Amino acid sequence: MSDFNFKPINCRNCGFLIWNGLSSAGIPIKLDTARLNLVDEIQTLINGGRTYQIHRTYTSFEATRRTAARMGATDPIVLAQHTCKSEGFLFGEQAPEYFSRPKLSTTSEKVPF
Ligand SMILES: [Zn+2]
Repeated sequence: MSDFNFKPINCRNCGFLIWNGLSSAGIPIKLDTARLNLVDEIQTLINGGRTYQIHRTYTSFEATRRTAARMGATDPIVLAQHTCKSEGFLFGEQAPEYFSRPKLSTTSEKVPF
């Protein structure tokens, strides 16, 4: 398989909207959609969770396990591995867009004239 792109799914166990795909090491993983800041990430790591840094691809993104060597990345987009105990997490009906790409939808923006 060469498709490492992530797709939004609803977790079969808890119903949360999550990302399902392959890590850059080729391992199937599920990620929470909520983006972590550094404090969140440290909290996740302290609690035994795993974090992944995501990289834009043409249609989606790839995820690479965060290691100490990557901690110095500038403004990384970091997501936690989904663990089905994400009480209180913000989650939406729609997958978030991390890279401010134009939406694929055909609905035109409102024109102010
Ligand atoms: Zn779950």
